[in-house]
Amino acid sequence: MNETVAQIGMFTLLVLLIIISGRLFCGKICPLGLFQDLFSKIPFPIKIKSFKADKYLRYIKYAFLLIIVISFITGQTVQEPEDNTGRSPTATIIITALFVIIAIMRERFFCKYLCYFGAVIALGNKISLFKYRLDEKKCIQCGICVKNCKMNLEPQKTPNHPECIRCGKCKKVCPRNAITFKAGK
Ligand code: SF4
Ligand code: SF4
Repeated sequence: MNETVAQIGMFTLLVLLIIISGRLFCGKICPLGLFQDLFSKIPFPIKIKSFKADKYLRYIKYAFLLIIVISFITGQTVQEPEDNTGRSPTATIIITALFVIIAIMRERFFCKYLCYFGAVIALGNKISLFKYRLDEKKCIQCGICVKNCKMNLEPQKTPNHPECIRCGKCKKVCPRNAITFKAGK
């Protein structure tokens, strides 16, 4: 019973957070996101800033989301193995190592390509109370925000893009304070 109340409480808090601030959860709270941020700071000879297939690969997370929604509607559940003790430690080590290496090479790769939860709350950026605002009079199109965006977006053109995780980096680095995060029109 207590567990159910706690779950309802957490869910309500999350919905409120999305309504108020869109994907702020991804940028500031999600532990997986914060781990990726830490790993991306590790020096490595290969750092992938952009590549051609990037925009297509970003649809993978929406495909995952679609599969989950269809499974839910048709009443099928994604089967979890009942006995996790049977999982090969080697497989776990390989998956973890791959996650770390890719996170070092490509900023927020999991958020960009795989996280179906992020795909759900991406809609929040359009409807949230607080939004990013660009002051066009202040912006000199220097591109510093673009260079620093973890999600490879163009905040000076689309400050409330669904892929924006509201990390605040563009706002922080803008030399003209042209980007703000505030409520209202
Ligand atoms: S860093 Fe600021 S001034 Fe430069 S392009 Fe971005 S919003 Fe405009
Ligand atoms: S647009 Fe700004 S807030 Fe959004 S992900 Fe890029 S740097 Fe972070």
